[in-house]
Amino acid sequence: MDQIVSLCKRRGFIFPGSDIYGGLQGTYDFGPLGVELKNNLKAAWWRANVYERDDMEGLDAAILMNRLTWKYSGHEETFTDPLVDCRACKGRWRADHIQGVCPNCGSKDLTESRPFNMMFKTQVGPVADDTSFAYLRPETAQGIFVNFANVLATTSRKLPFGIAQIGKAFRNEINPRNFIFRVREFEQMEIEFFVMPGTEDAWHQRWLDDRLAWWRSVGLSSDNLQVYTVPKADLAHYSKATYDLMYRFPIGFEELEGIASRSDYDLGSHSKDQANLGISAKVMENTDSTARLTYFDPETKRHLVPFVIEPSAGVDRGVLALLTEAYDEEQIKPVSAERAQAVSDALAAFVKSVGRNEKLDPAQRDAILERAEVISQDVAAHMAQIPALLDLPGASSIELSKKLRGQADPALDESYRTVLHLKPALAPIKVAVFPLKRNAPEIVATAREIRKTLQADGNMRTVYDDTGAIGKLYRRQDEIGTPFCITVDFDTLGQGKDASLTGTVTVRDRDTMQQERVLMRELPEYFRDRLR
Ligand code: ATP
Repeated sequence: MDQIVSLCKRRGFIFPGSDIYGGLQGTYDFGPLGVELKNNLKAAWWRANVYERDDMEGLDAAILMNRLTWKYSGHEETFTDPLVDCRACKGRWRADHIQGVCPNCGSKDLTESRPFNMMFKTQVGPVADDTSFAYLRPETAQGIFVNFANVLATTSRKLPFGIAQIGKAFRNEINPRNFIFRVREFEQMEIEFFVMPGTEDAWHQRWLDDRLAWWRSVGLSSDNLQVYTVPKADLAHYSKATYDLMYRFPIGFEELEGIASRSDYDLGSHSKDQANLGISAKVMENTDSTARLTYFDPETKRHLVPFVIEPSAGVDRGVLALLTEAYDEEQIKPVSAERAQAVSDALAAFVKSVGRNEKLDPAQRDAILERAEVISQDVAAHMAQIPALLDLPGASSIELSKKLRGQADPALDESYRTVLHLKPALAPIKVAVFPLKRNAPEIVATAREIRKTLQADGNMRTVYDDTGAIGKLYRRQDEIGTPFCITVDFDTLGQGKDASLTGTVTVRDRDTMQQERVLMRELPEYFRDRLR
């Protein structure tokens, strides 16, 4: 996780929220590359679930909703996590995350756990009193249920069909943690799929298969995905069954998406005239709804309350999964013997100084020493781990770490690369264009023209960069997952040694690092095939 967090901050994927004011816990801002990656993930989801299916409509409902929504959905009463206080250090924890021991001070002197409602409140209108507040939605799903009748009436859909939505959700998590895995403001990609009662089990299974296949299609490997069937005892009272789709995050297998079979609870809860609808779930009596959320079955000529299958995925967890899967450190050349020796010497001095540094927390010191020990056994093989070693809190304050970095950086630059093997369609930038020489006006103009054309005609995010030597520019693009780099040189202009190369550019592939000459005019087509 350290490496991913550091890359995200260093290269502009994800920044801690409100950083210049000391941050706001549980919030993150998506930077220039992060917003592209996130948009690409959401677009891929929308394409697969809305455009490529015949049974889905889209929706974008308001975040603020009438409070009654949350009364009848059950959230006011039950959307809680168990909260405990530590009597020794006054820390507050989510009880089911700490196994009876305060993670801050180690004390076992904890209060009884009590339910803590995770919905944020905000003031609506100019008068502040007990009744004028609204909740920030903790899930997008309820916006779909309250619009069920609207969508049905305006689209003349027949069962089974679904409504898909992507949007922000807010939860006042007791302990936000693990980077963007558990945050207080996040996005969800949710589907409410409405089916005939009696067909829900088959649809539940189909959605599980579909969703697994989709996560694989965006690049997650089967080895890193698991299905957890939530035990009956842990299910919400209305849920018939829930599958949690788990991904192997750096913190272990954790939930990426939940796929729940929710019976007729949701539409039944928000309906008027409940007594006459034959609702099978146990719902709160609704005395406020003005709509009957039913479907007229043309075959039996009866109104019924559809059952619901809900695949609900987190966008932020999706981004973290993609980064986890894609991140790699690769040795591309051997480290020279002199460099290895210099790094080894600096490392030995570094280890000594860490061992003597009394200001460091003993656990941190041990962690640094342990990693340094591994690296020192074979410097050449473990060189790529040095940046993470130096990123450990405490280590950066040591003068020698600078020296170590100074020794390691050139060796790393030549011999290692950090690379994000993102699927091309997901990559924030698709193509980067470089001029071989930035002071050769014709080369620069041609490179800029290629950038413009690919961006406009090919609709692929393309950037121009001339701020370093080509090798360095390649490494930079590797690190952010750009699948292709183009270099324009003298041959392109017909001013090189080989006249047959006139009108061609070098295209370099991120994964294979192979280069080939491609005709400039064929570039849009060349990339269209490869970026699909
Ligand atoms: P968890 O058990 O991890 O708290 P949950 O079961 O409460 O998650 P759901 O209510 O099923 O989560 O929400 C659907 C999806 O929304 C989750 O699978 C996850 O991807 C995402 N999600 C939920 N809470 C958060 C959060 N605090 N931060 C980021 N994503 C979240």
